[in-house]
Amino acid sequence: VSLRPFQLHRPGSLEEATELLERHGEDAAPYCGATELVLLMKLGLADYRHLVDLKGIEELRRLARDDRHLHVGAAVTHRQIERSQLVRDCLPGLAEMEREVANLRVRNVGTLGGNLCFADPHSDPATFLLAADAELVCRRGSAGPRIVPIARFTSGAYETALEPGELLVGVRIPVPPAHTGLAHGKFAFHERPTTTVACLARVAEGRVAEARVAVGAVGPLAVRAPEAEMALAGLPVESPDPAVLEEAGWLAAAASGATSDGSGSAEYKRHLVGVLVRRCFRDALSRALRSTATGSRAGSAT
Ligand SMILES: Cc1cc2nc3c(=O)[nH]c(=O)nc-3n(C[C@H](O)[C@H](O)[C@H](O)COP(=O)(O)OP(=O)(O)OC[C@H]3O[C@@H](n4cnc5c(N)ncnc54)[C@H](O)[C@@H]3O)c2cc1C
Repeated sequence: VSLRPFQLHRPGSLEEATELLERHGEDAAPYCGATELVLLMKLGLADYRHLVDLKGIEELRRLARDDRHLHVGAAVTHRQIERSQLVRDCLPGLAEMEREVANLRVRNVGTLGGNLCFADPHSDPATFLLAADAELVCRRGSAGPRIVPIARFTSGAYETALEPGELLVGVRIPVPPAHTGLAHGKFAFHERPTTTVACLARVAEGRVAEARVAVGAVGPLAVRAPEAEMALAGLPVESPDPAVLEEAGWLAAAASGATSDGSGSAEYKRHLVGVLVRRCFRDALSRALRSTATGSRAGSAT
């Protein structure tokens, strides 16, 4: 296993990066942490003469919030998100999910943008961001941004809606309103997840006013489970009926598109989805009950 020689480019702007990618065409690839790209090259599954490092572009390293959104640049690492006080304050479920990604070495260099652009079905962030209703900011050179909802960004296993030459600039995630909790659950034999689930619960007048359920890793794409969401809406918060939670679990499993592969049979994965949805929705509910002010500790587990 060895790497063939390549030239490294370090553009300082998006325009420069696009120009480099256009100039070298199929011989070039962009990267952020390179944890996936270099692995592919080492295995002989990809071969590029020119690698374009996007980490020097300031816009892609942005981690900030405004009134409505948390903005995470594509080159922000999993570890930076996990440790950010800003993230812990306004979207603690995101920091908690990131803590569960891979191992410390991968989290230190791997980025949110690289994870989403690689579009490995075994992804934690893709599922979480689906439940969070995130949008992706894509851009090519000096053109204006193209905003793509996360549900339309991943178009299949290892496939995205990025157009030729277009780069992912960042992700914008709505800051949950008060009385809203977001939780993530996963099951993994090794580092990459076998099953991922993310739930959002918004509570009003003692009942579930809004429920979101996303399931990933079991099939080619992370998906929302609208029938499970409908079953959970209206559920009393104080003593949620276990039969309704169980039904929601099975509805989510049915919607998950689970397929049999090296991680397990479709039937086994559907079972895992059912269990994780029940647990994860309970977590989201208890976080919603603890969250008070908009954007401050909303969804906090502490
Ligand atoms: C041992 C191991 C365990 C792992 N476990 C997990 C896990 O538990 N959960 C999980 O979710 N993930 C897991 N992963 C995946 C990990 O999260 C990704 O490897 C990492 O996030 C990829 O980020 P990167 O910056 O290194 O990507 P890179 O390798 O830099 O890029 C990946 C791909 O995206 C393209 N790309 C990168 N950035 C951009 C951009 N801004 N615009 C357009 N295209 C771009 C590159 O050309 C490349 O094709 C694991 C990986 C490893 C190696």
